[in-house]
Amino acid sequence: MVKPMNETNDRIGALPVTVLGSTGSVGRQTMDVAAMHGLRVEGIAGSKNITLLEEQIRQFHPRFCAVENEAAAKDLKIAVSDTDTQILSGREGVLYLASAGESKTVLNSIVGTAGLMPTLAAIRAGKNVALANKETLVTAGEIVMREARENGVSVLPVDSEHCAIFQCLNGEPKNRVSKLYLTCSGGAFRGKKRKELENVTAREALAHPTWKMGAKITVDCASLMNKGFELIEAVRLFDVAPDDVEVVVHPESIVHSMVGFCDNAVMAQLSVPDMRLCIQYALTYPDRMPSLLEPLDLKKVGRLTFSEPDEETFTLLPLARRAVKEGGTKTAVLNGANDAAVALFLDGKIGFTDLFDIVETVVNETVSKENPTIDDIEDAVCMARDAVCKLSR
Ligand code: MG
Repeated sequence: MVKPMNETNDRIGALPVTVLGSTGSVGRQTMDVAAMHGLRVEGIAGSKNITLLEEQIRQFHPRFCAVENEAAAKDLKIAVSDTDTQILSGREGVLYLASAGESKTVLNSIVGTAGLMPTLAAIRAGKNVALANKETLVTAGEIVMREARENGVSVLPVDSEHCAIFQCLNGEPKNRVSKLYLTCSGGAFRGKKRKELENVTAREALAHPTWKMGAKITVDCASLMNKGFELIEAVRLFDVAPDDVEVVVHPESIVHSMVGFCDNAVMAQLSVPDMRLCIQYALTYPDRMPSLLEPLDLKKVGRLTFSEPDEETFTLLPLARRAVKEGGTKTAVLNGANDAAVALFLDGKIGFTDLFDIVETVVNETVSKENPTIDDIEDAVCMARDAVCKLSR
């Protein structure tokens, strides 16, 4: 039976949440969702954009706000001295925020490997994590999922593909699942062959057909590295074999991913592409509530198409599959190498196909450490970054 909406609203509104990365793209959309549903925001953490942090503090009255940059934290403290919000600073401030207070769920949309330790801090404090930080599962997914199990908390995916799979899986026992289908827009260079990619510029790579995102992830979409990372995340999040995750190119970005079951039924989740659905589902799970999304008009969409990814051109996708099969620190190496190579590409220092080759070389030539600790993983990321810089000189 459908629950009366106001009862659900009251329950959801009473659950405080903490938002890490509140000034970024996913963070800002999270604040929109929080405002719509009257969620109590207990803590926020943002980057140097203190103007926006001040606005968020005045609108949501959080108990804590953490800013990693010490100088920015000082300025913010002065700007909001007339409020009751406590300003925390530095790495420790962010880690404290991730674990502090009454929040049952911490939404983590911090960009990059800096997001890993806050995820663990939240899990260790017994909080669910709504995860929009890819690096958490790509670099240290096995450790993170194990700690989540040990602490009895959930890792709720905010990425559109994993959120779709999570919705399709809802309530089905794992042994009935035969395949996960990750859909992929194909990025800015869909249909192009390697030869045509040699001279593409960062500006061309940044023209993503359907989603508006930051520069780094848009390049990752163009190279299909992002889909490779999502494959690794899916393996760890849903505990499936790498060969049971199939990537399907779907340029319309309407089917956000699918799950195949043992009876060959396939469940798909469709909607207009809008991250606010994933954010809301992670924050209100297992409830469904009205959202800020436009309704999906399939008659306007007209047709949905699906095809195989070109793994001969986009070699980082099969590389990701190999890396997750190998396990250990291999996926951390992939992450670090790609980070450094994308930065060089965005700076115009290497070409787009050099990016593929450099990442592949570093991943192939680095020995993976089995059963790594968090320190091993962080070392592997750093060493991979250094190796890329040496190779590109
Ligand atoms: Mg995605």
